[in-house]
Amino acid sequence: MAGNGLCKPREIVMRYLIYLSILIFTVSCSNASSTSEAIKPSKEEKYNWRLVTSWPKNYPGLGMAPERIADLVEEMSDGQMTITVYGAEEQVPAFGVFDAVSSGSHQMGHSGGYFWKGKVPAAQFFTSVPFGLTADEINAWVNRGGGLELWREIYAPFNIYPIPAGNTGTQMFGWFNKEINSLEDIKGLKMRIPGIGGEVLKEAGGIPVTLPGGELFTALQTGVIDATEWVGPYNDLTFGFHQAAKYYYYPGWHEPGPMLELLINIDAWNSLPNHLQVIIETATKAVNQDMLDEYLAKNNQALTELIEVHGVELRKLPDDVIEEFRKISNKILDDLAKEDEVISKVYDSYLKFKNNVSAYHQISEDAFVESRNK
Ligand code: CA
Repeated sequence: MAGNGLCKPREIVMRYLIYLSILIFTVSCSNASSTSEAIKPSKEEKYNWRLVTSWPKNYPGLGMAPERIADLVEEMSDGQMTITVYGAEEQVPAFGVFDAVSSGSHQMGHSGGYFWKGKVPAAQFFTSVPFGLTADEINAWVNRGGGLELWREIYAPFNIYPIPAGNTGTQMFGWFNKEINSLEDIKGLKMRIPGIGGEVLKEAGGIPVTLPGGELFTALQTGVIDATEWVGPYNDLTFGFHQAAKYYYYPGWHEPGPMLELLINIDAWNSLPNHLQVIIETATKAVNQDMLDEYLAKNNQALTELIEVHGVELRKLPDDVIEEFRKISNKILDDLAKEDEVISKVYDSYLKFKNNVSAYHQISEDAFVESRNK
């Protein structure tokens, strides 16, 4: 090397142009397989990505899903790709995840689509809407019923590629310090309940409040709010809500099966070799199901503990209250679809799927579970 001496700038440019010409000639004369080798990223290149979330670091269920995706990707890629997972506020605020991935400041995020309803109102259908799809049903709609194509279409303008990434299953309506015996008891009720569920409560005469999870216990204990929803027995037990409220109400009509999302910056996604894209898709699909399994297994254990050890009083919402919430929900969703073309397109697909799958479930799962439990 020493004998070559230093090149002058013009020589460097010339050499570069000659190299480029050879490269173009080689590529254009090659067959398909060697073409892909020449232009695709090296299979040896290491990728170290950062993933921001809307959850406390390592929070049971919600926060563990992205950790498991990261572990699986590292193992399946034999260490070629590592993903560092950050809890909410560590790098960006809980509700700053979408913008971080959209801008490319972080390659990945893990969150819930209904948090972005201000920017992408239709995103709520890919998490949960009141009286909407259950976990199994939304998995089927998104993965096999045309939902995923719509989801990717509405996130593409934000330079984001979404993948379904977890589900809590049907949630609980939540924790109350007073009994709900009629619609009158909803009037003036100050409850933490986000999203369209909150709009329904407001329409029924209640006062919806939005607060992050970490502030809920104190707000409930000090009477700042009369009631709160969170997730279900597994997560609610970890927050100790049973020490601040007496009644635990069901069903969680407002969140029947919320799907979480892995968000990937599209430029970062396109920079990956195909096999790493397949690994990420496959690992995330596995975790999407694993998280649902985890919640089902842990929820029923936690519910038993809440009732038998902590003396929690389980209550079902009266039928007329549920009926009123359902009527209001349907009206709010219909009105939303009338106002917005994108929502209309998504809602149309969602509603058709819901009607068909409901009819099928009535004569399959619903009928079977009813006969089993009698
Ligand atoms: Ca919730």
